[in-house]
Amino acid sequence: MKSELIIDSGFAFRRSLMVEKLWRDGVITNPSIAEAFEIIPRHLFVPKSLWHKAYEDQPLPIIHDQTISQPSVIANMLEILEPRKDLRVLEIGTGSGYQTALLAFLSKCVFSIERIKRLADYARANVYALKFDNVTIQVFDGTLGWKANAPFDRIIVSAAAPAAPKPLLEQLKDGGRMVVPEGTRDKQHICLYTKVGNKIERVVLNEVSFVPLIGAYGWEDSCGNSS
Ligand code: SAM
Repeated sequence: MKSELIIDSGFAFRRSLMVEKLWRDGVITNPSIAEAFEIIPRHLFVPKSLWHKAYEDQPLPIIHDQTISQPSVIANMLEILEPRKDLRVLEIGTGSGYQTALLAFLSKCVFSIERIKRLADYARANVYALKFDNVTIQVFDGTLGWKANAPFDRIIVSAAAPAAPKPLLEQLKDGGRMVVPEGTRDKQHICLYTKVGNKIERVVLNEVSFVPLIGAYGWEDSCGNSS
């Protein structure tokens, strides 16, 4: 096991209630995903002043004006992604590292990219505190993918893209799955890409609202920069 993370971190009862509701609402159907949500302590990924809200189904502010995504949105994306313990995952938009930790529990290894250094440092501290040794977090523009470690069995983008970044599609393995919220800066739909040989299929799924993916194959930032 990559983690001896059975830390008695508290809030276990509230965590169970959260998972129970995600089951009941049909958001989670995969027992491994339920187990990951049961084990990973979400409150440790948000400021202490928000611990009491950590198991409510809502996004919460973290540092640098960013957010930790809503549990039901993460659960839905993980269900679509279908991670497995023998698969390598690329994650774009590390944020607090919460979803990274869930992926680390569910996958062989996780390569995660965050564009904001302070957040990447925060996420690293959070993920390594849980003793995961199968996660690498780096700071750069994730819309370019991570060529040195490609191809990936699974790719998950946790910020809103105008369209699926081309380098990510190229770095997806044959037989792989990629999940990305696509649309405008305010409103998107989760899109699932599957690759079979040279053929890529796209399925448009439910509506979501993410912070923008800033980068060469994403949106410009508020200063008009795309890097
Ligand atoms: N899933 C994360 C969690 O569990 O905390 C939350 C992700 S947050 C909604 C989106 C993140 O994407 C932000 O931290 C933002 O800085 C990052 N981001 C935006 N554009 C990016 C890019 N081009 N490359 C890497 N990260 C990016």
